[in-house]
Parts: sequence; C-alpha cells; structure tokens
Amino acid sequence: MNTNLDSPAYLSQQTFHHLMAQAPVAISVLRGPQFTIELANSQILEVWGKDESVIGLPLTEGLPEIKNQPFVGLLQNVYKTGITHYGYEAKVTLIRRNIPGDYYFNFVYQAVTHSDGTISGIMVVATDVTEQVLSRRKLEDAEERHRLAAEATGLGTFDLDLQKGVIIHSPRLAEIFGRKSTDVISHPELRQIILPVDLHIVISAFDRALRTGIYFYEARVIWLDATIHWIRTTGKIIYGDDGTPLRMLGTIQDISEQKRILDDLQKSEENLRLATQAAEVGTFDLDLLNHSMVWDRRCRELFGMEDFDGPVSYDNQFLLGLHPDDKEKTDQAVNRSYHRQLSNGEYDVEYRTIGIDDKKLRWVRAKGKVSFNDDDIPQRFIGAVLDITENKLNEIRKNDFIAIASHELKTPLTSLKAYIQLLHVNARRSGDSFLLNALQKSENQINKMTKLIYGFLDLSKLESGKLRLERHEFDLNALIEEVAAENRPIAQSHAITFLGGKPIIITADREKIGQVINNLISNAVKYSPKNTDIKVLVQRLNNQVKVSVRDNGIGIKLKDQQHIFQRFYRVEDDSTKGFSGFGIGLYLSAEIVELHQGKIGVESSEGQGSEFYFVLPV
Ligand code: ADP
Repeated sequence: MNTNLDSPAYLSQQTFHHLMAQAPVAISVLRGPQFTIELANSQILEVWGKDESVIGLPLTEGLPEIKNQPFVGLLQNVYKTGITHYGYEAKVTLIRRNIPGDYYFNFVYQAVTHSDGTISGIMVVATDVTEQVLSRRKLEDAEERHRLAAEATGLGTFDLDLQKGVIIHSPRLAEIFGRKSTDVISHPELRQIILPVDLHIVISAFDRALRTGIYFYEARVIWLDATIHWIRTTGKIIYGDDGTPLRMLGTIQDISEQKRILDDLQKSEENLRLATQAAEVGTFDLDLLNHSMVWDRRCRELFGMEDFDGPVSYDNQFLLGLHPDDKEKTDQAVNRSYHRQLSNGEYDVEYRTIGIDDKKLRWVRAKGKVSFNDDDIPQRFIGAVLDITENKLNEIRKNDFIAIASHELKTPLTSLKAYIQLLHVNARRSGDSFLLNALQKSENQINKMTKLIYGFLDLSKLESGKLRLERHEFDLNALIEEVAAENRPIAQSHAITFLGGKPIIITADREKIGQVINNLISNAVKYSPKNTDIKVLVQRLNNQVKVSVRDNGIGIKLKDQQHIFQRFYRVEDDSTKGFSGFGIGLYLSAEIVELHQGKIGVESSEGQGSEFYFVLPV
C-alpha cells in the first residue's frame, strides 16, 4: 500500500515532520522525478554524512557519490511502478566527512502518492547494518580460515545443528570415515560407521559434551573395505543467549598411525620390561632438566629399599646408598658422563651399595647413556643396573687365593734361585758345560716364574686398590737400556735395538715403568718370529715423552686391539696357538701407565707387526 502524505485524513504535514524527526530510523522523502530531497531526518543525514544543506537538492546533487550506484535505478523503478522495494544488507559507498567508505543498509523504498493515486515521490527508510554485516563477515572469514587450516592438517571439520540434528561436514571428514570425499554423510550414518563396541565411548562423550561444552573421544571406525581406523574427535558447543546448546563445531582426525606407533612402543616397552625382569636388571631414568629421578623396583632392591615406593633423588638415595669408599669415584663417573667431550655420554661403572634399609652390601654394575641437545647440554640419563655381588665375591676370593698363593711361592722361589746361582758358581769352576747350560736354562725358567708371580701379586694389589706408586726422578733412557739389556740374553733369537740419547729425566715409579717396558719387549719377542728385529724408540713431545716398542710379528686384528688391555684378555685364534700366558701383562701395564696419568696404545694390523707405545707426562 502506498502512502498518501497529502491526505488531510492521514497526518498533518507538521505532525509528519515531527514524527519523522523523532523516528528511531533514518527517513527521507524524495519528491518528483528528480528525487528532490524534501525531508531528511537527522538520522538519515547522519547516515549520508551530510547536513541539512542537502534538503531541497535533487538526490544526485546532494549525494553525488550515488550516481553510479544501483539506487537511482531502483528509485526510478519504484517511482514508475509503485512497487515497494526492500533492500537487504545492500552495500552503499558514501562520502562521510569527505572520506569515502562502504556501508551496509536494510532499506525500504516506498512510493508516496497524491490523493488521486499518482505517484509524487518516494519515502526512504533505512537502517544501518554495517556493523553486523562486518562482524558476521569477520566470523565467516575466521571460520573459513579455520576450515582451511583444518583441511591442510588433514583434519575433517563438522558443524552439527544440535536442535535439528543436521550435520554439515568437510569432504575430508567423509574420507576419514572411509567414504569418498564427495559423499555427504548424515549424523545418524556417521554413528553407524563407529565400531559397535566403541559406540558407548561416543555416546558418553556426547552426553558429557552437552554438560561441559567440550567434546572429545577416540574411537574406531569401520570402513567399507572392513578395515578399522582410529579417529580422534574434538569439538566445542556453541550456546544461544538463553544457554541452550545450538551447535557443535569440531574436528576429526585419523590417528591410526599414531595409535600403531604407540602400540608398537607399548609392546616393545613391555618386552623390555619382561626382559629386564627376567635378567633381574634394574633401570634408572634421570630427567636432567627437571632434576627428577625414577628407579624401578629392582633398582630400589639393589639399594636395599625394596619396600620404599616414594620418590627418589640423586643425593638422598643414590649417593646415600653408595659404599663410602665408592662414593667419590662413582659420583665422578656420573659427572663425567654429563660431558659429551669427555665421555660421549657413556657411563659404565662398578660400585658397592650399602642397603639403605636392609644395610646389606651389594656389588652393582651400572651402565648408562646420557642424551644431549644440540648445545651439548645433557637432557636425560638412562641406564641399567645389575647385581654382580656373587661374581664379585667369587672374584675377590679368587684374587685372595692368588695373592696368598703368589706370596707363599715367593719365598721358595727366591731360595731356589739362590741355590741355582750357587750351583752356577760351582759349575763355572768345574767347567762342566752341560751343567752350566742346564743351570742357565733353569734360571731363565725361574725368572719367568718370578715375573709371573710378581704379576699376580701386582694384580691382586691393583684389584684391592693397594698398588701404589713410588715416584722418583730418573733417566728414562738409562732405564730402557737396562731393561733391553736384561732381555737380550733371554731373547737371543731377536735383535733388540735401542738408540738412547741425552738423558730424559722424568718423575715416576722407576720399577713399575721398568715393568711396563719389560712387558712390551717380552711380548714383542714372544709374538714375533725368530731372527726378527725389535726396535725400542723414545720421542720427546712438548711436555710428554713417548716410548714405543716395534716388532715384526704376528700383529693384532683391529677387533682385538680394543680388548687386549683388559684383564685376562688373550687373542684366541690360529695365529696365537701355542703362545702361553694369562692375559694380565698388558692389563697391568695399562693400569700402571694410567696411574701415571699417561696413555697406552697400539698400532697394528694382522701379520704386519705391532707398535705398542705409552706416553707419560714429563
Ligand atoms: P699374555 O701375553 O700373557 O697373553 P698380555 O696381556 O701381555 O698377556 O697380552 C694380551 C694379548 O695381546 C696376548 O694374548 C696377545 O694375543 C696380544 N699381544 C700382546 N702383545 C702382542 C704383540 N707384540 N704382538 C701380537 N699380539 C700381542
């Protein structure tokens, strides 16, 4: 119905103006085919960004910026047909305070008629909805960005209308449910794809979501090809102003791969747990960033506190549980493993514990590894501990036996040697060459035996920590010459050469260093064929001196080289058949050199001879 503003029955002009000015909406009356602005209330002037000076001007003069916008056309249409036009969220470009900008309006163009029914103008009523439109756009943009981000990470997205039970989902979601990306799946259908035994998980998650607003579950779905896949759903409920849940927005992710990895991990952890249990190995795990430590039951047992379930710490349980004599060296070994340069994070020690609760003494072997970050800062220290008490006690008993036996053998051997030396004097006097020869051989054997026995004695001293150095200043060259000379009569089959030079004065245990040189020379003789050369060399390097013994013997394989300095290690293969020994010579030598803060090593390859060397600080 058109408005007849001229009708006296309607409203007086004045009343109308007054009404318009009061109206909470923007109103204007445009008169004639030029759409002359006859009336414009303050709201519409504000919307236009103009003042009252536009009143009386044709619309396109008052608001020249609308000339190229569709409104003039719409007005003309209404003017011509009388059909009211409703605009919804229409965009208008307006120049407000000289600044052009886009605004959005809901508006009505309604024809105004003369009393004879002919159209005389148009009434414009407009509501500025710019703010709503822009904020809705923003929301839509955000939702779109969200959706795109979700799709990019392989997430499916959904929007469930909780009132109607209608779901809108992304193509990816259909894929996660084992359908084609173009498939559209309804909410009840989605539920049917859930593995029946997991359906209760989904239902209770949904109920919980209605109470808490948060939706979360992990469950299995069964695809059309009958394969089973894990999904993880997270969602959030959107409520209306009155608190009724309106929609649920969320994402769904295929977590089958994650689940598989986790499963494998759990399986291997379980295997490891069973294996460590079977081997009675305890485990420890130190988080070096948070300074926390975890011990399993077996580890607690080895520290004599199997009934203690509480938290453990490095200072209170570990250090406290160590035997006082082993505390310092073990603590040092741990600290060493925290320096990548020093230890490469490796930790391998033996120590004694005194049970914190049961006060029992136990021997423990611990092996561990520290992991570092890129800046070499230690992060985590994990390892295993093993009870070696039984072995250790056996070993101690064995060592004690060797020590006692060696000690007891020393006296008869010394007197045997004295008697042989006496016989030697007599034989020389009588000139009996057979006797002389036999006695020389006996003496050689006795010397060998003496060396062996002293070796065993040293070994037991070393094991019990009683091997002490007696340091004096002496000339290293003189010592080497002495040892070489001692060996020559025994090893006439080899040419032992040594070119000493100016005296090299070092401070060390002369006897023990002599023992090391002697051991290297006698090994060189032992492990190289007759009539080959053995060269002893000395080199001065800055603050160090290096002694090497080179032979042309059987050589040593690389894989054996790393073990030959270990106690009782002997190379057992065809090349060493027929060589007797106990595998303690190099072990003792290495320990002696280490006590001097020196370094021992070998360079060799099979069949190519060997060069053993040690370096001492000067
Ligand atoms: P032993 O000689 O009593 O077996 P050692 O501790 O002196 O014990 O040596 C350990 C092992 O190292 C020997 O069994 C031998 O296999 C190897 N070895 C030592 N010296 C040499 C050498 N000069 N050439 C080849 N092999 C050697």
